[in-house]
Amino acid sequence: MGHPMFNYNAELTNEVFAYCRERLSMDPVPLDFGSLHAMAPGDMKGFITSGGRNADEILNFFRDELAPAVVSIDSPGFLAFIPNAPTKNSLLFDMVVACSGLNGTSWLESSGVVMAENLALAFIAQLAGMPDGSGGAFVSGGSLGNLSSLTVGRDVGRVKHPELAAHEVRFAISSDAHSSIGKALHVLGIEPLIVNTDDHRFTRESLEAALANDQNPSSVVGIVATSGTTNAGIVDDLEGLGSYAREHDLWFHVDGAYGGAALFSPSERHLLAGLRHADSFIVDPHKWLFGPLDCCALVYRNPTVARKVLAQQAGYLDILHTSDDEHYEWNPSDFAIHLSRRARGLPFWFSLVTNGTDAYESAVQSAVDLAHRTECKIHDLDHVEMVRPVSLSIVLFRRLGWSTERYVEWSHQLLRDQIAFVTPTKWEGETVARFAFLHPDTTDELVDQILATMRD
Ligand SMILES: *Cc1c(COP(=O)(O)O)cnc(C)c1O
Repeated sequence: MGHPMFNYNAELTNEVFAYCRERLSMDPVPLDFGSLHAMAPGDMKGFITSGGRNADEILNFFRDELAPAVVSIDSPGFLAFIPNAPTKNSLLFDMVVACSGLNGTSWLESSGVVMAENLALAFIAQLAGMPDGSGGAFVSGGSLGNLSSLTVGRDVGRVKHPELAAHEVRFAISSDAHSSIGKALHVLGIEPLIVNTDDHRFTRESLEAALANDQNPSSVVGIVATSGTTNAGIVDDLEGLGSYAREHDLWFHVDGAYGGAALFSPSERHLLAGLRHADSFIVDPHKWLFGPLDCCALVYRNPTVARKVLAQQAGYLDILHTSDDEHYEWNPSDFAIHLSRRARGLPFWFSLVTNGTDAYESAVQSAVDLAHRTECKIHDLDHVEMVRPVSLSIVLFRRLGWSTERYVEWSHQLLRDQIAFVTPTKWEGETVARFAFLHPDTTDELVDQILATMRD
């Protein structure tokens, strides 16, 4: 019966599902140990053999040796970088996606999948105040979302400015923009106009000042704003920058990979009102929208323009563009720098539809509220102080008298003790501590416990 690699193995299936069930039922998910549980690089020599190894044995090896050598990003104690807290429903549906032969590339192959994904995208676009007809695709992450959007913005700018050489068009970005923005511009071969800000917030005034001092301000064809800087959670002046872009016919891109999710926060969403001006906008469901890695929602105000720039042309692909269903035909492959595509928006769609928007609002809001309560705790303690006020769900604070080495030692010890994963960051040249709250199950007690470990 068939090739042996494709036989159904009921026993192994049960064991894998049992493993998944065990992970899914953990409450809370443990931190695990990261590289503190490192294996010697030689330990897996000889694993790949001509005859193949016993699957049970290898599954056990994964469970006992490899799986603990990660820091589980979905643990409520994971407060470093930007965590990921997928809902149980999103994880379950990720397994459905894994077991189904879905290719989220085109309408022809997966219209049902694309329709569901587009419902989730349209919901985000509507929260952002973007017009009906906005749309795009789910891509692997904010980095690819930024690169794809800026490619479209660049080409639109080139068309508007035939007097400029192709490499001369520029984007205005803030010195606090995410590293993926600089990387995208590097890939695109265009220079940024880097705008320095007084307090790390990119505003219309700082943009106008930078343009006034610039040799060639008319070469700036677009503006990149951030709705929630990764390090500090600062939301740029979207209203001012967006209206400037509208008045001067510039591309306006908003990188909301982390903080775009604040659209779901009743107390913070007013900060994002200027998103309605965006030509392109990204938010990562794999960050603060409780979907599994890896998933970024990329939305264009005018998808037709994006399709013109990014659709891949090839003889064998022509059939993708000849649907008789003209009105609805929607190929996610047309909206980013990708072709074959995992239907990575589906787990988020399933989670949003089954949990409902009230649950999403309260879960996003709980991280903001915990950040503010933590700020109060820090004000009340003698050994720590805030570096700047809380923005969104990020808390930047310092332990008075600590060196960089001390912060690093403390961070390792917290992980070794399986209390939390908190990593120091740099703020204006100084090493400081940082909490990125996101998981609704992170408790005040845990925060108290962490702050207590900083006493000595
Ligand atoms: C995380 C982040 C990115 C990069 O997103 P990935 O999904 O990691 O590629 C870009 N911009 C901001 C503001 C981010 O926080």
